[in-house]
Amino acid sequence: MVRIDGSKGEGGGQVLRTSLALSLVTGTPFEMVNIRAGRAKPGLLRQHLTAVKAAAEVGAAEVTGAELGSRELTFKPRALSPGNYYFAVGTAGSATLVLQTVLPALMMASGPSTLRLEGGTHNKAAPPFDFLEKAYLPLVRRMGPKVEAVLERHGFFPAGGGKLRVNVDPAPLKPLTLMERGRVTRRQGTALIAQIPFDVAKRELATVEELLKWRPDELRTEELKRSVGPGNVLTLEVESEHVTEVFTSFGERGVRAEDVAGHAAAEAKRYLDAEVPVGEHLCDQLLLLLALAKGGSFRTLPLDGHSETQLHTFAHFLDVKVDVREVSPEVREVEV
Ligand code: ATP
Repeated sequence: MVRIDGSKGEGGGQVLRTSLALSLVTGTPFEMVNIRAGRAKPGLLRQHLTAVKAAAEVGAAEVTGAELGSRELTFKPRALSPGNYYFAVGTAGSATLVLQTVLPALMMASGPSTLRLEGGTHNKAAPPFDFLEKAYLPLVRRMGPKVEAVLERHGFFPAGGGKLRVNVDPAPLKPLTLMERGRVTRRQGTALIAQIPFDVAKRELATVEELLKWRPDELRTEELKRSVGPGNVLTLEVESEHVTEVFTSFGERGVRAEDVAGHAAAEAKRYLDAEVPVGEHLCDQLLLLLALAKGGSFRTLPLDGHSETQLHTFAHFLDVKVDVREVSPEVREVEV
């Protein structure tokens, strides 16, 4: 059994989710200690526990330590079963992170699956649904598997209550090469509000217009008339010839609308200036796909802690070599 120290790298939930995903794909059992030791509230929170239970169901796994707050876990998958699944986080914890835990195995499985997930769909520090739909899943489809996701209801922190439905039609994963972004063909900034004053959305878009010089016809507001709780999300989509990237920031009590927008705008600007196809978040998620495909390459920004954590975690389960070459201070070339 592989033994993994959860405090290494980021010391957060990602080493756990990636280990679960790779354990399901490879059939390798693992034991994890020091789960999320690097976080203020260590151990399994509701989102992580839901991911463990989801992986256990999909892989008919024998599990110990699957409890809230647990800092140790053993996971032994026995048989991977595609099928119809329902996973509910039960809080506003990210449902997209739960999805990404089981998706790699299901998209390489022997038959199709349908998933219904409930929880947060637009969370800070997790892939928001729009990123999943417009940036991540199109790349998955380019690699072979047909995966489609539909947002049935938004779920924001702290109320949760979001719903999504995902269809998975598996296929072997083909390597992907993504070295060029190409010309930017469309830009779209959306300020989404639910039970939040309209002025907040207007101020966010004005900030994007000022900082990024996006035109008024590239900016829109969207107001949700019915939602389980309040929420405010600013989404900046950059569609280019070879890839689409999505940058997001979240309204929070006590944070000015201008600062919320400034955060997403800075991320988008850094990506646009570097002229790479793959941004920081997409990088760590794409690394896992390429490692499973055992090949591919892309250009991206300097790797962050999440990407470094991915590379450490792969070494426990996969026999792949990942080279990261510095092209310039803001550009890296990754080859698997
Ligand atoms: P923790 O356990 O540390 O409290 P966590 O379980 O929520 O946190 P992390 O280990 O922080 O998870 O991993 C978060 C994942 O979400 C990473 O893959 C990261 O790239 C992704 N992510 C974070 N923010 C965004 C974003 N704005 N857009 C797309 N993906 C994102």
